[in-house]
Amino acid sequence: MRIVTIPCLSDNYAYLLIDDADRAVVVDPSEAPPVEAAIEREGVTLSAIWLTHHHWDHVGGIEALCDAHGELEVLGSAYDLDKGRIPRQTRGLREGDGLSFAGHDVSLLEIPGHTLGAIAYIIDGCVFSGDTLFIAGCGRVFEGDMPMMQRSLAKLRELPGETRIYCGHEYTQGNLKFAAAIEPGSAAIEARAKWAASVRDQGEPTMGAKLADELDTNPFLRWDAPEVIESAKERGASDDAGSIFGAIRTAKDKF
Ligand code: ZN
Ligand code: FE
Repeated sequence: MRIVTIPCLSDNYAYLLIDDADRAVVVDPSEAPPVEAAIEREGVTLSAIWLTHHHWDHVGGIEALCDAHGELEVLGSAYDLDKGRIPRQTRGLREGDGLSFAGHDVSLLEIPGHTLGAIAYIIDGCVFSGDTLFIAGCGRVFEGDMPMMQRSLAKLRELPGETRIYCGHEYTQGNLKFAAAIEPGSAAIEARAKWAASVRDQGEPTMGAKLADELDTNPFLRWDAPEVIESAKERGASDDAGSIFGAIRTAKDKF
């Protein structure tokens, strides 16, 4: 399976997943034109659209793509299907449901918090995490609460360290500035900030980063690291993981 990262809007990413027969799935098409350009450039046939959540900057291209490509499978969570808030959705997914593409089983994780219908798709060692797990950060908690978001991130943290992360936005450099404020003096965060700067200077996305690197640098996966606990307690957190996560997330909202 090949992955093509497609920049959309100002800082969103959609992704084309492409199998050996040049059939493609698009994840989170924010808008149709850049996705159509990628389909054309890659010479692939679009067969399905997978959504991580219902926000407009992830679903905005669905209708135009469905109009242009005919019968497309449009997958999102069962929660969002029930709410009717993803255009043209054909199937509602729950954690543990079976799905496959390009000869790979796809695992689904329900990861509520950013929205209550947020899901992640895991395929071929890659996770499409939408606005829940960002590289070096996480999404805002809009519909859930802090402990719920922390439990969702805990599920993602259990994936193998080699898992590659493909998320909804290019927020990596800003996230690493915040990470450095939470853990001043962290050599791992400093090294990653240098890596991100060099990747972005070349005009490339930072997507595809390894989960193992997140575990050392992403404050939103480090609720049990002494440095993060100390920082969270200075901001009023108690001892539990949800509270530690919540204090850090609240600090990021104001950063
Ligand atoms: Zn969102
Ligand atoms: Fe978004």
